[in-house]
Amino acid sequence: MNGFRNFMTGRYGTDQLTVAMLVSGMVFTFIGDAFRLETLTLLTYAIFIGCVFRTMSRNISARRSENQKFMKYFTPVMTWSKSKYNMIRSGRSYKYFKCPNCNQQLRAPRGKGKIAVTCQKCGIKFIQNS
Ligand SMILES: [Zn+2]
Repeated sequence: MNGFRNFMTGRYGTDQLTVAMLVSGMVFTFIGDAFRLETLTLLTYAIFIGCVFRTMSRNISARRSENQKFMKYFTPVMTWSKSKYNMIRSGRSYKYFKCPNCNQQLRAPRGKGKIAVTCQKCGIKFIQNS
C-alpha cells in the first residue's frame, strides 16, 4: 500500500471529469456490446486510456483546468436534473387535481382524508379527497 502511495505522489488522481468519463465509458461498453458496435467499443478503450492518463498525470494545473471547463457545463445539467427529480419525488407526497369550476391545476398534501379546498384562481370552495 505504501508503494502505491509513493507511486501516486505528485500525480493528479481522480476528479469529477474522470468519474464522468468512467461512467460514460461503461455505458458505451454496454451499448456497444448489446448492439455489437465495434467502433463504440474502440471508443470506450480510448476513454478508459484517457481516464488512466488523467489520473496518472503530473501536469496537475492542466488537468484541473480541464475539470473546471467540464464542471462549467456539467453543473447546470446537474441542477436541472435535481429539480426535475424533486418534482417527481414530491408527486408522491402531493396529490394534483383540477378545480371543478375553472380547471386550474391545484395540489394538496396526500393522506389528509377529505379536505375543504378553496381555488386560488376563482375562489370556489369544494371538498377533495387527498
Ligand atoms: Zn377554480
